[in-house]
Amino acid sequence: MTFCTDCGEKLPENAYFCPKCGQRTRSGAEAGISTPWEDLRETFSKMGEEIENAFSIAGKEMEKALKIARDKIVEATSKEPIICPDCEEKNPASTRFCYNCGKKLK
Ligand SMILES: [Zn+2]
Ligand SMILES: [Zn+2]
Repeated sequence: MTFCTDCGEKLPENAYFCPKCGQRTRSGAEAGISTPWEDLRETFSKMGEEIENAFSIAGKEMEKALKIARDKIVEATSKEPIICPDCEEKNPASTRFCYNCGKKLK
């Protein structure tokens, strides 16, 4: 007579799974029967990989978008430079203080 390793339920000789709690029996393990939970875990690990891939793709797309945004900012700010009245340094249009001398710009 075999007993369930998990709940102690009496098991039929040829049982691969405990009829009470679903735990795989020793004969089930010896027969190489995988529990539904193990299948589930495999599915989840595959899903994890796919999620990771999706994130890395999203990361690349994000990088690209950021680069475009940065280029646009550079383009916008380089159009009309503000010339510092103090040191005559050219500052990007969005600058509020001269990056060379710290003078407040209009
Ligand atoms: Zn059991
Ligand atoms: Zn200046």
